[in-house]
Amino acid sequence: MPDRVTHNILAEIVEIASDAVVCMDVTQHITFFNKGAEAIFGWTPEEIIGQRIETLIPERYRGSHASQVEEFGRSKVRARGMGERREIAGVRKNGEEFPAEAAISQIGQGDDIVFTVALRDVTVRRRFEQRQQFLAEAGEKLASSFGSSETLNQVARLAVPTMADGCILESRVGNGFLAGAAAHVDPDIEEMLDEISPAGARIPPKGHPLTEILNSPSPVLLKSNAASRLVAASASPAYLKAMRAMNPESALFLPLVAREQLIGALTLFRTTGSFDRDDVEFAEDLARLAALALDNARLHDTVRASLRARDEMVGVVSHDLRNPVAAVKMLSRMMLRAPEMSETEARDNIELIAQAAEQMDALIRDLLDVNRLDGGKLVISPVPVDPFVLLTDSLQTLRPLVEEKVISLDLQIEASLPKVLADRERIQQALSNLVGNAIKFSPAGSKIVVGARGDADDVIISVLDRGQGIAAEHLPRVFDRYWQSSRTDRQGAGLGLAIAKGIVEAHGGRIWIESRPGEGTTASFSLPLA
Ligand code: ADP
Repeated sequence: MPDRVTHNILAEIVEIASDAVVCMDVTQHITFFNKGAEAIFGWTPEEIIGQRIETLIPERYRGSHASQVEEFGRSKVRARGMGERREIAGVRKNGEEFPAEAAISQIGQGDDIVFTVALRDVTVRRRFEQRQQFLAEAGEKLASSFGSSETLNQVARLAVPTMADGCILESRVGNGFLAGAAAHVDPDIEEMLDEISPAGARIPPKGHPLTEILNSPSPVLLKSNAASRLVAASASPAYLKAMRAMNPESALFLPLVAREQLIGALTLFRTTGSFDRDDVEFAEDLARLAALALDNARLHDTVRASLRARDEMVGVVSHDLRNPVAAVKMLSRMMLRAPEMSETEARDNIELIAQAAEQMDALIRDLLDVNRLDGGKLVISPVPVDPFVLLTDSLQTLRPLVEEKVISLDLQIEASLPKVLADRERIQQALSNLVGNAIKFSPAGSKIVVGARGDADDVIISVLDRGQGIAAEHLPRVFDRYWQSSRTDRQGAGLGLAIAKGIVEAHGGRIWIESRPGEGTTASFSLPLA
């Protein structure tokens, strides 16, 4: 092949190469700039030819680069390949820096030397490698975190600031979401995001991306103006406040799916700029990891909770069931051994045996109810009921207890209250647990008031006593199973309030307790209107 043809072919190859090919003379001024270089650096050959090579190098490397090239010029080495040199950085016309790999060769000698640099932009590869490494580390961290809340926090910490300025992780609760963890580069905003979860589960309104995710679990990206779109579709005041303060430009909503179930959502926010296709893929990888970790953590939580429930139940059975059993054993033996027992004495003993049996029966019923609550098997059949009838009927069965302790019981029911939706038996059970406590913790001669009043969308039923009250530090625990402020009395196993709460919540109501030590306690619950 004639030299000229070979030359043209080579020139053509250099022109179409996607790498940058840049030649410079001995004074390190650019003499040649191919199409690849134009695409990577953003300069045209007309603009750049004649300028020093340093124009293409970030300022901080300029000095060392010039001396390295000079040294290379003095050496006997004719070329250094891409792999032989550590990664370097280039700078584009718009000032953006990028990671690169470069090869260099020299032809000629002395003042006629020509250096040729072939340079490859490795931004994409570098980003891919970093992301792979991030995901590998994230996987390790998540695998070693225990419990769902710790796992959610871990994910939030991983996502910010690597992938976003802010993030919220939520668990799915029925048709809504419950924020479980949040993070933001600005601690003040993070605090606001943390306020979303105590407000409880939110059913996302129509038009909110989380509603779309509930309908079909695929990512939803709000590329721009995310803040105004989210503010427009926010139902919860805490969420609204956080969105206003954070003012995100873009938001990416990702479903967390495990074992084909939507178990939560991960939302990433950016204050400026949007997420590109690459970011979305990366975020989807993190969401997959997070879903898997969350699912494992939940299984772990469930196993732990079941073991604890089993231990507690064994504890209660051995503690609270043993006493009445012992009483029955003792009394019946006594009666067998003393055939001449008077009729009155025998009746008294039988009375005590019956009481013990009653106590055991009540305890077993409570344990079974707690078990039902655990398995979500507490079935209620609510029907429209007049609150007045509901209360007077329920209290009828409790009268003897009240009279026994010489306590007066007042009913204060607002006139013409609308009907509520209630499963009579279950609400009677809940109410009798509350009134039972009021009687138990009130001194003889004091007064208990059972009331009902109307509220916006429900009726509130309350039980007020003038008993010993509950210390402020104990209040958050009263609805916990098996919890009692003192374990000395034998009436009850600390299940009454937990069961009452389960029953009320199954009706779609709320239950709460207010108390002042030494003054008394008011337990209240709401029931939805029929
Ligand atoms: P139990 O009555 O079987 O102990 P509960 O779940 O009904 O279980 O109540 C849990 C604990 O809460 C009680 O042991 C008591 O310490 C406290 N408590 C509940 N109601 C009252 C009340 N009206 N006054 C004072 N303490 C109360």
